[in-house]
Amino acid sequence: MAKRILTVFAHPDDAETMAGGTLLKWAKEGHEITLCLITDGDKGTADPNDTPAAVVARRRIEQARAAAHLGARVVTLGYEDGMLQPTLDLRRDLVRVMRRVRPNVVVAGDPTVWFRHGTYINHPDHRVAAQSAVEALYPAVKKHGIFPELLAEGLEPHVVEDVWLGPTDEADTWIDIAEVFEEKIALICEHASQFPPAPTRAAFTRMAREVGQERGLALAESFRTLRLSSSTVRSIAGGPALST
Ligand SMILES: [Zn+2]
Repeated sequence: MAKRILTVFAHPDDAETMAGGTLLKWAKEGHEITLCLITDGDKGTADPNDTPAAVVARRRIEQARAAAHLGARVVTLGYEDGMLQPTLDLRRDLVRVMRRVRPNVVVAGDPTVWFRHGTYINHPDHRVAAQSAVEALYPAVKKHGIFPELLAEGLEPHVVEDVWLGPTDEADTWIDIAEVFEEKIALICEHASQFPPAPTRAAFTRMAREVGQERGLALAESFRTLRLSSSTVRSIAGGPALST
């Protein structure tokens, strides 16, 4: 049965770089994908003469092209790039998106990741987006009493079944992306202002190989996954989850 999948990331290109191979496979299986972008990526330029409006306009076109690859819808929240904080306003905005889209699966970052590859400090927006997504998932999205103003908008509580977090240092799920790897590179390179083809291919090949080696796969993406239910006690006990 087709599932609804919602990605929650800070910037245009994050979903594609972090989970693009897995999303391509899901899209081919007929699942319905919505990409939620918390910022418009207005700092995504090395040119001091670029205006934020010009950067946003360029990135919006690039994002639309990438989304078209996935047959995905795009929801943008319009927060300022580089300045993200885990506020209650952001949590409410994410709960609103989750209650509208009513996804079976949410894909987001792992909020515990500070460093990667010995060369990279995780962007603070990535950590904040990941933290805010997790904080929206529990307990706000499924509780009537949290953000009652959303009930007034007709947005009833919702239980997300599966959460996939990545990239992560605590992977428990590996996805073989060999068959879609070239498409993943093409998907990422739709964000042409950010990703020149040659170094992008080299970097993402290296990363996918390293992740794949952990499970004997040529090229892979990995995730830390959670299976949620409406009752935490029941899910830990292994009993049947409630339907609401
Ligand atoms: Zn990013």
